[in-house]
Amino acid sequence: MDAEQLRENAHKMVDFIADYYKNLETFPVLSQVEPGYLSKLLPDSAPNHPESLENVLADVQSKIIPGVTHWQSPGYFAYFPSNSSTAGFLGEMLSAGFNIIGFSWVTSPAATELEVIVLDWLAKMLKLPEHLLSSGQGGGVIQGTASEAILVALLAARDKALKKVGKTSLPQLVAYASDQAHASMQKACQIAGIHPENCRLVKTDSSINYALSPNLLREAISEDIAAGLIPFFLSSTVGTTSSTAVDPLSALGKIAKDNELWFHIDAAYAGSACICPEYRQHLDGVEEADSFNMNTHKWFLTNFDCSPLWVKDRSALIQSLSTKPEYLKNRASEANMVLDFKDWQIPLGRRFRSLKLWMVLRLYGLENLQCYIRNHIKLAKQFEELVAADSRFEIVVPCVFALVCFRLLPAHNDQDFGNKLNQDLLDSVNSTGKIFISHTVLSGKYILRFVVGAPLTEENHIISAWEIFQDQATLLKSN
Ligand code: PLP
Repeated sequence: MDAEQLRENAHKMVDFIADYYKNLETFPVLSQVEPGYLSKLLPDSAPNHPESLENVLADVQSKIIPGVTHWQSPGYFAYFPSNSSTAGFLGEMLSAGFNIIGFSWVTSPAATELEVIVLDWLAKMLKLPEHLLSSGQGGGVIQGTASEAILVALLAARDKALKKVGKTSLPQLVAYASDQAHASMQKACQIAGIHPENCRLVKTDSSINYALSPNLLREAISEDIAAGLIPFFLSSTVGTTSSTAVDPLSALGKIAKDNELWFHIDAAYAGSACICPEYRQHLDGVEEADSFNMNTHKWFLTNFDCSPLWVKDRSALIQSLSTKPEYLKNRASEANMVLDFKDWQIPLGRRFRSLKLWMVLRLYGLENLQCYIRNHIKLAKQFEELVAADSRFEIVVPCVFALVCFRLLPAHNDQDFGNKLNQDLLDSVNSTGKIFISHTVLSGKYILRFVVGAPLTEENHIISAWEIFQDQATLLKSN
């Protein structure tokens, strides 16, 4: 690494990225390329000799950008957001600059220690119970994704249960969640060796706003115990992926306690909103949690990837995931004086992710972060009102955070016809290139999902987006 070459080229790259953001609204939000487009534009093999940065950037501009879907565009309303910010970006730069691999404390003490401090800060902002902080037996760790957070929690729970009932009982272990839980729950069960039929997804419906029903859960657990099975894990969600349903944590936590289940809370998306006092009620009941995760890379201005997980009993995680090869032994670890985050996650290597979260917390401060969340929720409610005022559309579930679930009403009451109509509407609004939305299916109905969460989205983007829906709906209905 030549420092002067880095300075010169990094300045050019920052200029390129800043121009990208400046011109963001000129690109179609959803990439419009066809599969395989890039192999037609790039050579078959890597160059033998170095090329100039200018040439590479010219290719990025003409060949890569057309194949990028612009998650940071103010017209991006799909899935859940993936926020970037100057603070998050600077933290990423710093992390790339140091390029350390912080698997053990000794490999970069600041990486482990900053992660502990920053996750305690965030836990306090969320008013998480004391036992999830590092001062007790628990603490936080940054995973790459919520899927990894759920997996490691499940592995710790599985091994804790097997210690009690014996390793041969693995086929009898049962994990519970609602049928609205993210697919990462099923994947975690698959990886953890839970029998596919024992990943129990309790049915939800519109009468309970797609939240997990404590009564149905209790029934499922009783039936399983009567059948000789061993319930061991419950995952609840605050802000489900399809419709941001909030499971009733207090009641579920009690059931988990009564039945000695590990109680996990997945707040991947909606956790961010809970830094605002008026949304913190959605975490009531978190006191009973054995583990809790949220994605600061979704709606918290922290560039991907950054997925904090807090656990009540860190030794459960460590017992499941630690290895002690000779080549990693060192005095601090041997003396049990430090945390080694390699034992809290699946891979060995880990990035210095806490830097970007620290930057976000320091360069914004709690009050600005709260304003940021509140503004998106206000804009989502505004969009919801626009939809509700047009009798051609219906709101499918009330907007709780910044996701609006709605659909165009079909002329006659045929579900397949209505579903096709809304699929066509989704395709037509996305093909305008001005906005990008995604969909889900609830109770057999194809639903449009409109999520306000991109950092650059303002009121004018909401109004323009709504006009696109109205225009495309008019076109579809007249065809
Ligand atoms: N849990 C919920 C509620 C989610 O909405 C998502 C993704 O959107 C996930 C988990 C998985 O997140 P990740 O991509 O970080 O694994």
